[in-house]
Amino acid sequence: MRLKDKVAIITGAARGIGQATSVKFASEGAKVVVCDLSPEWIEETVKLCKDTPGDAMGYVADVRKLESLEAMVAATVTKWGRVDVLVNNAGIVADAQLKNMTEEQFDRVIEINLKGVYNCTKAVVNTMLAQQSGVILNASSIVGLYGNFGQTNYAASKFAVIGMMKTWARELGRKGIRSNAVCPGFIATSILGSMPERVLRALEEKVPMGRLGRPEEVANTFAWLASDEASYINGAVIEVSGGLTI
Ligand code: NAP
Repeated sequence: MRLKDKVAIITGAARGIGQATSVKFASEGAKVVVCDLSPEWIEETVKLCKDTPGDAMGYVADVRKLESLEAMVAATVTKWGRVDVLVNNAGIVADAQLKNMTEEQFDRVIEINLKGVYNCTKAVVNTMLAQQSGVILNASSIVGLYGNFGQTNYAASKFAVIGMMKTWARELGRKGIRSNAVCPGFIATSILGSMPERVLRALEEKVPMGRLGRPEEVANTFAWLASDEASYINGAVIEVSGGLTI
């Protein structure tokens, strides 16, 4: 088991990529804090994790609220003594072309996808510094590398996540803390729910592998990056897109 006894906090963990990552980490022996907004979905994910060799606890927290994230880190340290891995996974979309995008749409996406990643990392960094070890993993997107039609706000947030991650890789590398980003392509989760079926089929056509990705395929990448097998990977941006951008 590659993550035996490692303590991991995963945000946006109740559904989609976050749920798959929680279950994968637990199946590799980790103790997982399933952080999300909805208590019911959190409970379901905790149950799935507990069916594996690992362990899990749920924590309702909004990544916009630094105080509740600090309380979550404190509760984690009280229960399990440390925090080895943070997966900054929570994210939303609120798409519109620039000419139609409202200030509310722009601010909502930046508040969760960018400030939320900052808040969670800020809440956990002193614990990792005291340990002189840790791994900070961040969900960016291929949209954070290339931009995308109708996603000014989302692209801004995901480019910025890569910028913060590279800064942390420089600031924290000597302290035993690795930081990396994963850029999924189009993965079959509810975040694609607003896309019409014909657009999804057209996207599939563009992928050299001819299909959308599965949440587990991103989860596997997070798990490897969190493990000691990736001990010299720091500041990296890894695409999980089936070759969509080549
Ligand atoms: P998802 O299925 O929509 O799951 C996201 C989870 O984050 C949901 O459970 C959501 O809760 C939670 N969340 C939203 N706002 C939150 C907040 N303020 N605090 C805490 N949790 C919050 O999305 P996904 O597809 O798994 O995406 C996961 C990450 O990968 C995101 O950062 C996304 O941008 C990125 N990504 C996804 C794709 C893709 O194609 N799926 C591609 C590239 C990048 P609610 O449902 O209750 O709002």
